[in-house]
Amino acid sequence: MNLDIRTMMVMMSALALMFSGLLTLAGLHAGNVRGVQHWAMGSLCIGLGLSFSYSQMEPPGDAWALVLGATLPMAGVGLQFNGIQTFKTGRCNGYLPWLLAGLALILGIWFVVLHPDIQARAVANSLIFGLCNAACAHALLIRIEQPLRTAYWFTGATFAILSTLFLIRAIIVFFSPPNSYGLYLQTPINPISFFIGSMAQMCLAFGFVLMLNYRLSADLQKLAASDALTGALNRRSLEQEAVRLSARCTRTGDSLAIMMIDVDHFKSINDRYGHQTGDEVLRRLAAVAQKTIRSDDYFARYGGEEFCILLPSTIEKDAWILADRLRQTYAGMVMEFGGEILRSTISIGVADSTHAGLEFTALVAAADQAMYRAKQEGRNRVMMYSAYLFV
Ligand code: GH3
Ligand code: MG
Ligand code: MG
Repeated sequence: MNLDIRTMMVMMSALALMFSGLLTLAGLHAGNVRGVQHWAMGSLCIGLGLSFSYSQMEPPGDAWALVLGATLPMAGVGLQFNGIQTFKTGRCNGYLPWLLAGLALILGIWFVVLHPDIQARAVANSLIFGLCNAACAHALLIRIEQPLRTAYWFTGATFAILSTLFLIRAIIVFFSPPNSYGLYLQTPINPISFFIGSMAQMCLAFGFVLMLNYRLSADLQKLAASDALTGALNRRSLEQEAVRLSARCTRTGDSLAIMMIDVDHFKSINDRYGHQTGDEVLRRLAAVAQKTIRSDDYFARYGGEEFCILLPSTIEKDAWILADRLRQTYAGMVMEFGGEILRSTISIGVADSTHAGLEFTALVAAADQAMYRAKQEGRNRVMMYSAYLFV
């Protein structure tokens, strides 16, 4: 490849600076998602570092510009890694970019100012850059739900390519004849490194923006699917799940069970303890129900103080056992609000597709009937739809 090194370096620097601006703008509306500003700062450091390297090249300038030319990008990769960690977990090791910058600075002072050896410096820096990029790739090439996985793997693959490039560069420079290598020489490795480096800068910026975009859309989808008070699914998404499950059960011949849960005398809880306490009672019921159900069951707030659970591949009798366990656990809970003790109970109706059919409205109606029967029988109990179907 016969690309001009100087042009490539200016291009790479300009791209990194531009992407820093792009990422800053993207970070302005990232909501609760963190890490984007780290990436913007990382890109800025890389862009500035490349500018320093270029300024040393033409006309040949200060050796310190060359030292900064490696120190800033090293801090930049540290910031990119921290951005990934913050994006994933909300936390990162703040000292990492400083540590890497310090290391690059020491290497720079040693190999540029004290014991000038361009080749050894290139090998050492390439090795460290290679390892840092490998760490970024390792943090991103993980199993995670779609669509985030696409963005993670795209960005992770770019880091992996960069890491491989740096390691190959380290090996080639290491085995080059003495005094044959220079950062600005038209050696075979320089043009290809700078070309792939520029493309990678671009892909990384796209990857980061893609990660942010997918995260925000996943968060929005989650928000639109859940009930704000209890975090349970809302009625609309429950209905969507029910349609999907019904179609699956029709195909497989599996049974689908449903539970309708209603808090007993909830109005009097509101009247006596206040609406906020009522809300907290609903939250506690939701929490205990979430703990009781299995991972493939769907728990939703159906409306007011009524909740609904869809249980795939379950028959009415098994649903009854689970429902009664939930009823007992909830009834045994002692809730304390402002020094006052509160106990509450629930009534549950269960039904399944064998007795009520696979239509969601029919399943809900059957479970509702069973629940009202439980109310009539004295509350704090679980009734099966089939139990009085034939009476
Ligand atoms: P029953 O044992 O027959 O179910 O009696 P109940 O008092 O629970 O039944 P009712 O349907 O008459 O009362 C439900 C109450 O739930 C009425 C409504 O004000 C209250 N409610 C509905 N949504 C909410 C909510 O989000 N928060 C609070 N605190 N109360 C709510
Ligand atoms: Mg009710
Ligand atoms: Mg009620």
